[in-house]
Amino acid sequence: MQKHPLRPYIVGLTGGIGSGKSAAADHFEALGASIVDTDRIAHELTAPGGAAIDAIRDAFGAAMITPDGSLDRSAMRALAFERPEARRQLEAILHPLIRDESTRRCRVAQGAYVILAVPLLIESGTYRERCDRICVVDCPEALQVARVRARNGLAEAQIRAIMAAQASRNQRLAAADDVIDNGGDLAALHAQVQRLHAAYLHAASAPMRAC
Ligand code: ADP
Repeated sequence: MQKHPLRPYIVGLTGGIGSGKSAAADHFEALGASIVDTDRIAHELTAPGGAAIDAIRDAFGAAMITPDGSLDRSAMRALAFERPEARRQLEAILHPLIRDESTRRCRVAQGAYVILAVPLLIESGTYRERCDRICVVDCPEALQVARVRARNGLAEAQIRAIMAAQASRNQRLAAADDVIDNGGDLAALHAQVQRLHAAYLHAASAPMRAC
């Protein structure tokens, strides 16, 4: 018997860079949710043999492809910095592929519900429309900066520039149905994820939920 007659219950998970989206998604997954992660899909599309590689080569030339056949991220970053329209062109290639693949993965997901992890969910009408509920991972900006510095070794100015290009903390909080306060330790994060998981299981199994 098909598990989801129409489509699964979808929780959009988002948050600013370094807020703890991946840490939260990992714990939802450990509890049994299906994870569909648009960042992961983007990486797969641009890995060797990925579905976006030919279109990227056609648009930007072989110089943007590494010898192993993946997108040369640093060359692409440099080009996008030099020519902003190159970034838009890359997005025009990637976004429809990411959208289609994430839709497909949501449809075939086997978990009781899907966590659809989208870094720029608040900024994107398409993804918001697809979610039954929006869960925002939140922490103070100084903590975002400290966590990304520890994770990637980026300079504070670079991290602040990325944050400035994303929705503001207040915009994200205003769009949230649920907020995970990740200002504490991992145990506190896990406890909140556990509570939400119980609520999402309940909502996903409600017989009259809107489809
Ligand atoms: P995002 O996916 O939102 O960019 P991550 O989940 O990768 O953020 O978290 C950023 C970094 O901070 C990672 O190295 C992660 O392990 C760490 N981290 C996340 N939440 C906590 C927490 N509550 N306590 C300590 N470290 C955390």
